[in-house]
Amino acid sequence: MKYLVIADIHANLEAFQAVLEDACNHGGFGHVWCLGDVVGYGPDPSACISLLRTLDPACVCGNHDLAAVGKIDIGDFNSEAAGANRWTSRQLSDDDREFLLGLPDVLVHDEFTLVHGSPRLPLWEYIAHAFTASDNFECFDTRYCLVGHTHVPFVFEQEGVSVNEGYMGNADILKLGCSRLIVNPGGVGQPRDRDPRASYAIYDSDENVLSHYRVDYDIETTQAKMEKEGLPEFLIARIARGV
Ligand code: ZN
Repeated sequence: MKYLVIADIHANLEAFQAVLEDACNHGGFGHVWCLGDVVGYGPDPSACISLLRTLDPACVCGNHDLAAVGKIDIGDFNSEAAGANRWTSRQLSDDDREFLLGLPDVLVHDEFTLVHGSPRLPLWEYIAHAFTASDNFECFDTRYCLVGHTHVPFVFEQEGVSVNEGYMGNADILKLGCSRLIVNPGGVGQPRDRDPRASYAIYDSDENVLSHYRVDYDIETTQAKMEKEGLPEFLIARIARGV
């Protein structure tokens, strides 16, 4: 069975559609694992939720998802994120809200734990360094943990008392074995590793490999929509730079 692993769609419909098309070109998928932040920042929150729901995903909530429905305080958001959050909130239908409010913060599927930020602090913690990953290996029971939140494709491998870390490039294939891993597929809708292409992964349970991919999408169309909606300039500019 193949699982599409996506995180941080961030209401970017063009990026999301490009990922689905590209994943089909890479052999397709039977299930979807979504690691949260479906909305926030981008111009198509409702359309992204609708498209995601057609895929019947196993999906956890991200901080932006809960902020958009008023379930968490946006006091910690910077001004652009807070402004985009208020705009996002106004775009959601009752059905969209119900979907976001129903998302759990942790899901476990066989050998995998799914969270947005980290198993220790599912909504808020960024696993960007080996020392943070090291602490978090104590906070889940499965062999593997899939995370989002940093928008950077990365893998952390537990080896004895130390942790190896590595960036995942386009078409990198990770062979899964005995080692415990924390894997981030990168961000679909707002990558932050200086590569603006949408980022995602496919886990193949038969081959026991996780393949990472990048795909171009129509950034200018997304930017034009953001411009039209009056979303912050900083957010419009950053998706073209991948930062
Ligand atoms: Zn995010």
